Amino acid sequence: MRGRFNTSHIRRNYSYTVPEICRLFGIHKNTVRDWFRKGLKKTDAQRPCLVHGEILKDFLNERQQSRRKKCASDQFYCFRCRMPRRTMGNLADIEPRTKKTVMLTGLCEACEAPLRKVQSAKALPVIFQTFDIPRQQQEDIRESLSPSLNCYLENESQR
Ligand SMILES: [Zn+2]
Repeated sequence: MRGRFNTSHIRRNYSYTVPEICRLFGIHKNTVRDWFRKGLKKTDAQRPCLVHGEILKDFLNERQQSRRKKCASDQFYCFRCRMPRRTMGNLADIEPRTKKTVMLTGLCEACEAPLRKVQSAKALPVIFQTFDIPRQQQEDIRESLSPSLNCYLENESQR
């Protein structure tokens, strides 16, 4: 999606046709089709298809916000949802990647697509607090890290 759309013009209690959405923002219908592919919901079983104003507004606001916002520490960027998402039940698996980084994986709470991100091992205290990670994995990851990093983490957790 290029540019930003002023969503304050969208009426929440009105259902829009695709041509109406095009006129509202001065965009081509292919752009609206692209939004459907990216998750914009149509009103069920209507011909011609309609989009409820409230849904359109939320869809665009969320997209425009997520482009600016980086993922929070409890979020991953979901390439299917195209926005930062949390994992299902905040569950995550962790595995060592290098001596100083770890790989976190989980499933998108919205679409169940696999999520992954690389984190600095220095963030482990936060990661262990944020996510529900199997205890065995937590122990394994500590063993795999370089001794100096483990030292640092122990000091951190004693604070
Ligand atoms: Zn997703």
